[in-house]
Amino acid sequence: MAEKIPLIWTNDDVGIGNAESLLGMVEFLKQFRIPGSFAIVPIRIKDKPEYIYEDTDLRKALDKALEDGHELFQHSVTHACVENGLADIRMYAPHLMGYEVAKEHSRKRMYYERYWQEDAIIDQIQWGKEVWEKTFGEPSIGYRPGCGSFSVGMFQALEKLGFKWTSVTDLVSFTGWMWISENGKDYPFEMTPPVRGYKKYNNIIEIPGLDDVSFRVEAGDEKRFIELGWRQWQECVKNNWPYVMISHWHGLERNGGTGYKIHRILLDRILNTNQAEPVTLTQYYEGLIGGKYPLAESDEVGEASEIPYWHVWRWRKK
Ligand SMILES: [Zn+2]
Repeated sequence: MAEKIPLIWTNDDVGIGNAESLLGMVEFLKQFRIPGSFAIVPIRIKDKPEYIYEDTDLRKALDKALEDGHELFQHSVTHACVENGLADIRMYAPHLMGYEVAKEHSRKRMYYERYWQEDAIIDQIQWGKEVWEKTFGEPSIGYRPGCGSFSVGMFQALEKLGFKWTSVTDLVSFTGWMWISENGKDYPFEMTPPVRGYKKYNNIIEIPGLDDVSFRVEAGDEKRFIELGWRQWQECVKNNWPYVMISHWHGLERNGGTGYKIHRILLDRILNTNQAEPVTLTQYYEGLIGGKYPLAESDEVGEASEIPYWHVWRWRKK
């Protein structure tokens, strides 16, 4: 019998005002007896900053999630996409973040880059961390930026602030995201490694996310997204990769609950194979550093990185 594949159900964007949606997902996961890893946004900015510990309904729902064995970890600080760096560049596609945002981020690049420098981004992430600790009594060791954004400064800040892992600063597949768009309907199946966790910046481990097959799916179009998720599962089984699902509470609920419908059928199918080992992101992280799961090769910055051919450092000793 083949090795079991880590099945990691992750979810984004619960924050102030989303108690009911969180409880809905907790209820949903109960029938499958799998843990969820929920990325929670600590601060909402409206007229002024609001903190998750101020929302009593949300606090109760968060407690309930923890009681049921789910994991909560920090999702950005305020969830402004540009807060942690430039978003995954594919996110600037016309139907996702869109051209106007791409233009704004390009034209104001100097301005934003200032806020991605170490001193500024440490203060920003520290702000979220303080709110997190006040809410939960202990820090989050995991961090997921919004919109797949990141910068070297973000990783430097996370390292200084004691975070151990990030998730979804790498997206393995954009197929699900593209299929919901007008101009991406024929986007091919893709799974670009690394799919396993790996050391992305010194000792900080990135756990890439596969795709979101439940984002804004129209009613009646669920089947091909189920098949996409299933095909990704089969690839993971074949390659002994972890199956890291991405979902959003608003994506699950949208269009009369098409996302829930997709997850219900897909999870049933996957769990029926008896090849899934449901774990949280932190359990997977612990397995990676403890040698239970293999790490992918590192190919990013940090001490082990290779200097590009065009840089003088390669030709002169640093
Ligand atoms: Zn998000």
